[in-house]
Amino acid sequence: MRRLDKAFQAFFRRVKAGEKPGYPRFRGVNWFDTVDFPKDGDGCRWDSTPHDPVTRVRLQGVGHVRVHQHRPVKGHVKTVSIKREGRQWYVVLACDNVPAEPLPATGAVTGIDVGVTHFLTTSEGAHVENPRHGKRNAEALADAQRALKAFPRRKRADRSAKHRRAVEKVGNLHRKVRRQRTDHAHKAALALVRDYDQIAHERLNIANMVRTPKPKPDPETPGSFLPNGAASKAGLNRSILDAGWGVFLGILAQKAESAARVLIPVDPRNTSRTCPKCQHVDSENRDGEKFQCTSCQHINHADRVGAWNVALRAGLVLPDVA
Ligand SMILES: [Zn+2]
Repeated sequence: MRRLDKAFQAFFRRVKAGEKPGYPRFRGVNWFDTVDFPKDGDGCRWDSTPHDPVTRVRLQGVGHVRVHQHRPVKGHVKTVSIKREGRQWYVVLACDNVPAEPLPATGAVTGIDVGVTHFLTTSEGAHVENPRHGKRNAEALADAQRALKAFPRRKRADRSAKHRRAVEKVGNLHRKVRRQRTDHAHKAALALVRDYDQIAHERLNIANMVRTPKPKPDPETPGSFLPNGAASKAGLNRSILDAGWGVFLGILAQKAESAARVLIPVDPRNTSRTCPKCQHVDSENRDGEKFQCTSCQHINHADRVGAWNVALRAGLVLPDVA
Protein backbone atom coordinates (compact mmCIF):
# COMPACT_ATOMS: atom_id res chain seq x y z
CA MET A 1 0.00 0.00 0.00
CA ARG A 2 2.87 2.37 0.79
CA ARG A 3 4.50 1.66 -2.54
CA LEU A 4 1.18 2.28 -4.30
CA ASP A 5 0.68 5.49 -2.35
CA LYS A 6 4.17 6.67 -3.27
CA ALA A 7 3.52 5.97 -6.96
CA PHE A 8 0.25 7.93 -6.90
CA GLN A 9 1.75 10.81 -4.92
CA ALA A 10 4.43 11.13 -7.58
CA PHE A 11 1.81 10.84 -10.33
CA PHE A 12 -0.40 13.64 -8.95
CA ARG A 13 2.63 15.80 -8.23
CA ARG A 14 3.59 15.57 -11.91
CA VAL A 15 0.01 16.23 -13.03
CA LYS A 16 -0.08 19.39 -10.91
CA ALA A 17 3.29 20.51 -12.24
CA GLY A 18 1.82 20.29 -15.75
CA GLU A 19 4.06 17.40 -16.79
CA LYS A 20 2.89 14.41 -18.76
CA PRO A 21 3.12 11.54 -16.28
CA GLY A 22 2.43 7.91 -17.05
CA TYR A 23 -0.41 6.44 -15.02
CA PRO A 24 1.04 4.08 -12.33
CA ARG A 25 1.05 0.67 -13.79
CA PHE A 26 -0.21 -2.49 -12.18
CA ARG A 27 2.50 -4.56 -10.52
CA GLY A 28 1.64 -8.23 -10.39
CA VAL A 29 2.53 -10.69 -7.66
CA ASN A 30 5.88 -11.49 -9.25
CA TRP A 31 7.02 -7.90 -9.54
CA PHE A 32 8.47 -7.51 -6.04
CA ASP A 33 10.55 -9.94 -4.03
CA THR A 34 10.87 -7.90 -0.86
CA VAL A 35 8.72 -5.93 1.53
CA ASP A 36 10.55 -3.54 3.84
CA PHE A 37 9.19 -2.44 7.18
CA PRO A 38 11.30 0.58 8.10
CA LYS A 39 10.49 0.24 11.78
CA ASP A 40 9.82 -2.79 13.95
CA GLY A 41 6.31 -2.37 15.32
CA ASP A 42 4.99 -0.46 12.31
CA GLY A 43 3.10 -3.00 10.23
CA CYS A 44 5.15 -5.85 11.61
CA ARG A 45 6.46 -7.13 14.90
CA TRP A 46 9.54 -9.28 15.36
CA ASP A 47 9.18 -11.97 18.03
CA SER A 48 5.46 -11.29 18.35
CA THR A 49 4.99 -14.11 20.88
CA PRO A 50 7.93 -13.57 23.29
CA HIS A 51 6.52 -15.88 26.00
CA ASP A 52 6.36 -18.76 23.51
CA PRO A 53 9.60 -20.69 22.83
CA VAL A 54 8.67 -20.66 19.12
CA THR A 55 9.78 -17.45 17.39
CA ARG A 56 7.16 -15.74 15.28
CA VAL A 57 6.93 -12.57 13.27
CA ARG A 58 3.59 -10.79 12.99
CA LEU A 59 2.85 -9.18 9.65
CA GLN A 60 -0.06 -6.87 9.11
CA GLY A 61 -2.66 -8.56 6.93
CA VAL A 62 -0.94 -11.93 7.28
CA GLY A 63 -0.81 -12.73 10.99
CA HIS A 64 1.74 -14.58 13.11
CA VAL A 65 4.25 -16.51 11.00
CA ARG A 66 6.57 -19.06 12.49
CA VAL A 67 10.27 -18.37 11.85
CA HIS A 68 13.17 -20.81 11.77
CA GLN A 69 15.68 -18.59 13.52
CA HIS A 70 19.22 -19.59 12.57
CA ARG A 71 21.02 -17.56 15.23
CA PRO A 72 20.11 -15.36 18.19
CA VAL A 73 19.34 -11.70 17.52
CA LYS A 74 21.97 -9.34 18.90
CA GLY A 75 21.31 -5.70 19.61
CA HIS A 76 18.03 -3.93 19.05
CA VAL A 77 15.84 -4.81 16.02
CA LYS A 78 15.45 -1.72 13.88
CA THR A 79 14.09 -2.72 10.47
CA VAL A 80 12.42 -5.90 9.25
CA SER A 81 12.36 -7.06 5.62
CA ILE A 82 10.50 -9.99 4.19
CA LYS A 83 12.26 -11.49 1.22
CA ARG A 84 11.18 -14.11 -1.25
CA GLU A 85 13.72 -16.33 -2.98
CA GLY A 86 12.08 -18.87 -5.23
CA ARG A 87 9.77 -20.74 -2.93
CA GLN A 88 11.56 -19.73 0.22
CA TRP A 89 10.75 -16.77 2.39
CA TYR A 90 13.19 -14.97 4.65
CA VAL A 91 12.89 -12.48 7.46
CA VAL A 92 15.90 -10.16 7.38
CA LEU A 93 16.57 -8.08 10.49
CA ALA A 94 18.77 -5.01 10.70
CA CYS A 95 19.83 -4.24 14.26
CA ASP A 96 21.16 -1.26 16.19
CA ASN A 97 23.63 -1.30 19.07
CA VAL A 98 25.03 -4.72 18.22
CA PRO A 99 27.77 -5.40 20.78
CA ALA A 100 31.20 -5.88 19.23
CA GLU A 101 32.99 -9.12 20.05
CA PRO A 102 36.68 -8.25 20.13
CA LEU A 103 39.06 -11.17 19.75
CA PRO A 104 42.26 -11.46 21.80
CA ALA A 105 45.32 -9.97 20.10
CA THR A 106 47.53 -12.50 18.29
CA GLY A 107 50.48 -10.22 17.57
CA ALA A 108 50.44 -11.36 13.93
CA VAL A 109 50.01 -9.22 10.82
CA THR A 110 49.61 -10.12 7.15
CA GLY A 111 49.04 -8.86 3.65
CA ILE A 112 46.70 -10.64 1.26
CA ASP A 113 46.72 -10.95 -2.49
CA VAL A 114 43.48 -12.03 -4.06
CA GLY A 115 43.77 -13.81 -7.35
CA VAL A 116 42.21 -16.06 -9.91
CA THR A 117 44.23 -19.27 -9.47
CA HIS A 118 44.15 -18.99 -5.69
CA PHE A 119 41.26 -17.25 -3.98
CA LEU A 120 43.79 -15.52 -1.78
CA THR A 121 47.42 -15.79 -0.72
CA THR A 122 48.88 -14.37 2.49
CA SER A 123 52.29 -12.74 2.74
CA GLU A 124 53.46 -15.87 4.61
CA GLY A 125 52.70 -17.83 1.45
CA ALA A 126 49.58 -19.68 2.62
CA HIS A 127 46.94 -20.18 -0.07
CA VAL A 128 43.18 -20.35 0.20
CA GLU A 129 41.90 -22.23 -2.82
CA ASN A 130 39.39 -20.80 -5.22
CA PRO A 131 36.30 -22.99 -5.05
CA ARG A 132 35.00 -21.93 -8.51
CA HIS A 133 31.45 -22.79 -7.62
CA GLY A 134 30.23 -21.07 -10.75
CA LYS A 135 32.34 -23.34 -12.89
CA ARG A 136 31.42 -26.46 -11.00
CA ASN A 137 27.71 -25.79 -11.28
CA ALA A 138 27.97 -24.38 -14.79
CA GLU A 139 27.04 -27.67 -16.44
CA ALA A 140 23.89 -28.14 -14.39
CA LEU A 141 23.01 -24.51 -14.98
CA ALA A 142 23.56 -24.82 -18.72
CA ASP A 143 21.28 -27.89 -18.78
CA ALA A 144 18.56 -26.06 -16.86
CA GLN A 145 18.81 -23.03 -19.10
CA ARG A 146 18.68 -25.17 -22.22
CA ALA A 147 15.56 -26.91 -20.91
CA LEU A 148 13.99 -23.54 -20.22
CA LYS A 149 14.80 -22.21 -23.68
CA ALA A 150 13.29 -25.30 -25.28
CA PHE A 151 9.81 -24.14 -24.30
CA PRO A 152 7.86 -22.90 -27.30
CA ARG A 153 6.88 -19.22 -27.08
CA ARG A 154 3.20 -20.03 -26.75
CA LYS A 155 3.77 -22.28 -23.75
CA ARG A 156 6.11 -19.74 -22.18
CA ALA A 157 3.37 -17.16 -22.37
CA ASP A 158 0.68 -19.26 -20.74
CA ARG A 159 3.00 -20.07 -17.80
CA SER A 160 2.40 -23.78 -17.69
CA ALA A 161 3.39 -25.72 -14.59
CA LYS A 162 6.28 -27.33 -16.47
CA HIS A 163 7.56 -23.96 -17.54
CA ARG A 164 7.30 -22.60 -14.02
CA ARG A 165 9.29 -25.56 -12.72
CA ALA A 166 11.96 -24.96 -15.35
CA VAL A 167 12.21 -21.30 -14.30
CA GLU A 168 12.46 -22.37 -10.67
CA LYS A 169 15.26 -24.79 -11.44
CA VAL A 170 17.41 -22.09 -13.04
CA GLY A 171 16.74 -19.77 -10.09
CA ASN A 172 17.58 -22.46 -7.57
CA LEU A 173 20.93 -23.18 -9.22
CA HIS A 174 21.83 -19.47 -9.24
CA ARG A 175 20.95 -19.24 -5.57
CA LYS A 176 22.97 -22.33 -4.78
CA VAL A 177 26.08 -20.80 -6.36
CA ARG A 178 25.51 -17.57 -4.47
CA ARG A 179 25.12 -19.35 -1.13
CA GLN A 180 28.23 -21.45 -1.68
CA ARG A 181 30.19 -18.35 -2.61
CA THR A 182 29.18 -16.38 0.48
CA ASP A 183 29.78 -19.42 2.68
CA HIS A 184 33.32 -19.74 1.35
CA ALA A 185 33.92 -16.00 1.75
CA HIS A 186 32.68 -16.09 5.37
CA LYS A 187 34.98 -18.99 6.25
CA ALA A 188 38.05 -17.46 4.59
CA ALA A 189 37.39 -14.06 6.22
CA LEU A 190 36.84 -15.58 9.65
CA ALA A 191 40.12 -17.49 9.46
CA LEU A 192 42.02 -14.27 8.65
CA VAL A 193 40.32 -12.26 11.38
CA ARG A 194 41.06 -14.97 13.96
CA ASP A 195 44.73 -15.19 13.06
CA TYR A 196 45.78 -11.58 12.45
CA ASP A 197 45.53 -8.25 14.26
CA GLN A 198 46.17 -6.24 11.11
CA ILE A 199 45.35 -7.26 7.56
CA ALA A 200 46.48 -5.29 4.51
CA HIS A 201 44.65 -5.76 1.22
CA GLU A 202 44.59 -4.22 -2.23
CA ARG A 203 42.05 -1.50 -2.69
CA LEU A 204 39.98 -3.12 -5.42
CA ASN A 205 38.06 -1.33 -8.09
CA ILE A 206 35.85 -4.10 -9.43
CA ALA A 207 33.89 -1.73 -11.68
CA ASN A 208 37.15 -0.83 -13.41
CA MET A 209 38.35 -4.37 -13.73
CA VAL A 210 35.25 -5.66 -15.44
CA ARG A 211 35.07 -2.83 -17.95
CA THR A 212 35.48 -3.96 -21.57
CA PRO A 213 38.68 -2.64 -23.16
CA LYS A 214 38.22 0.14 -25.72
CA PRO A 215 38.16 -0.92 -29.41
CA LYS A 216 41.52 -0.27 -31.03
CA PRO A 217 41.10 0.99 -34.63
CA ASP A 218 43.62 -0.33 -37.16
CA PRO A 219 45.49 2.69 -38.61
CA GLU A 220 46.41 0.73 -41.79
CA THR A 221 42.88 -0.31 -42.78
CA PRO A 222 40.20 2.16 -41.66
CA GLY A 223 37.02 0.51 -40.40
CA SER A 224 38.75 -2.57 -39.04
CA PHE A 225 40.09 -3.16 -35.56
CA LEU A 226 43.21 -4.57 -33.98
CA PRO A 227 42.98 -7.13 -31.18
CA ASN A 228 42.40 -5.19 -27.96
CA GLY A 229 42.58 -8.07 -25.51
CA ALA A 230 38.79 -8.09 -25.04
CA ALA A 231 38.49 -11.85 -25.49
CA SER A 232 41.16 -12.71 -22.92
CA LYS A 233 39.85 -9.99 -20.63
CA ALA A 234 36.33 -11.41 -20.94
CA GLY A 235 37.65 -14.71 -19.55
CA LEU A 236 39.42 -12.94 -16.72
CA ASN A 237 36.35 -10.84 -16.01
CA ARG A 238 34.27 -13.94 -15.56
CA SER A 239 36.81 -15.35 -13.14
CA ILE A 240 36.95 -12.06 -11.24
CA LEU A 241 33.22 -12.08 -10.80
CA ASP A 242 33.31 -15.79 -10.04
CA ALA A 243 35.72 -15.31 -7.20
CA GLY A 244 33.39 -12.72 -5.72
CA TRP A 245 36.10 -10.46 -4.33
CA GLY A 246 33.82 -7.55 -3.67
CA VAL A 247 31.59 -9.78 -1.57
CA PHE A 248 34.62 -11.15 0.23
CA LEU A 249 36.08 -7.77 1.13
CA GLY A 250 32.69 -6.60 2.41
CA ILE A 251 32.42 -9.65 4.66
CA LEU A 252 36.02 -9.25 5.81
CA ALA A 253 35.36 -5.60 6.73
CA GLN A 254 32.30 -6.57 8.82
CA LYS A 255 34.13 -9.29 10.69
CA ALA A 256 37.20 -7.11 11.23
CA GLU A 257 35.10 -4.33 12.71
CA SER A 258 33.27 -6.65 15.08
CA ALA A 259 36.50 -8.33 16.19
CA ALA A 260 38.38 -5.00 16.60
CA ARG A 261 40.88 -5.91 13.88
CA VAL A 262 42.47 -3.38 11.55
CA LEU A 263 42.10 -3.55 7.77
CA ILE A 264 44.54 -1.50 5.74
CA PRO A 265 43.66 -0.89 2.07
CA VAL A 266 46.69 -0.07 -0.09
CA ASP A 267 47.29 1.19 -3.63
CA PRO A 268 47.16 -1.93 -5.84
CA ARG A 269 49.35 -0.57 -8.65
CA ASN A 270 52.26 -2.84 -9.62
CA THR A 271 52.00 -5.07 -6.56
CA SER A 272 52.47 -8.11 -8.78
CA ARG A 273 55.44 -6.80 -10.77
CA THR A 274 57.51 -5.10 -8.09
CA CYS A 275 60.43 -7.02 -6.63
CA PRO A 276 59.82 -7.12 -2.86
CA LYS A 277 63.56 -7.27 -2.25
CA CYS A 278 65.05 -4.53 -4.46
CA GLN A 279 61.84 -2.69 -5.51
CA HIS A 280 62.64 -3.12 -9.21
CA VAL A 281 59.40 -2.75 -11.24
CA ASP A 282 59.18 -4.78 -14.44
CA SER A 283 56.29 -6.66 -16.08
CA GLU A 284 58.92 -9.26 -17.09
CA ASN A 285 59.39 -10.05 -13.40
CA ARG A 286 56.30 -12.18 -13.45
CA ASP A 287 55.69 -15.25 -15.53
CA GLY A 288 52.44 -16.97 -14.53
CA GLU A 289 52.89 -18.32 -11.02
CA LYS A 290 56.61 -17.69 -11.00
CA PHE A 291 58.24 -14.44 -9.97
CA GLN A 292 61.86 -13.80 -10.88
CA CYS A 293 63.32 -10.34 -10.53
CA THR A 294 65.11 -9.26 -13.72
CA SER A 295 67.42 -7.09 -11.63
CA CYS A 296 68.41 -9.02 -8.47
CA GLN A 297 67.24 -12.50 -9.60
CA HIS A 298 65.09 -12.95 -6.47
CA ILE A 299 62.76 -15.94 -7.05
CA ASN A 300 59.41 -16.49 -5.33
CA HIS A 301 55.79 -17.51 -5.87
CA ALA A 302 54.10 -14.69 -7.79
CA ASP A 303 51.00 -14.54 -5.57
CA ARG A 304 53.11 -14.45 -2.45
CA VAL A 305 55.15 -11.58 -3.87
CA GLY A 306 51.89 -9.70 -4.46
CA ALA A 307 50.79 -10.32 -0.86
CA TRP A 308 54.19 -9.33 0.50
CA ASN A 309 54.14 -6.06 -1.45
CA VAL A 310 50.67 -5.33 -0.06
CA ALA A 311 51.91 -5.89 3.52
CA LEU A 312 55.01 -3.83 2.71
CA ARG A 313 52.96 -0.87 1.48
CA ALA A 314 50.86 -0.99 4.61
CA GLY A 315 54.06 -0.81 6.65
CA LEU A 316 53.46 -4.19 8.25
CA VAL A 317 56.64 -5.97 7.09
CA LEU A 318 60.18 -5.21 5.92
CA PRO A 319 61.38 -5.81 2.32
CA ASP A 320 63.36 -8.94 3.31
CA VAL A 321 60.91 -11.53 2.03
CA ALA A 322 62.06 -15.11 2.70
ZN1 LIG B 1 64.84 -7.59 -7.22
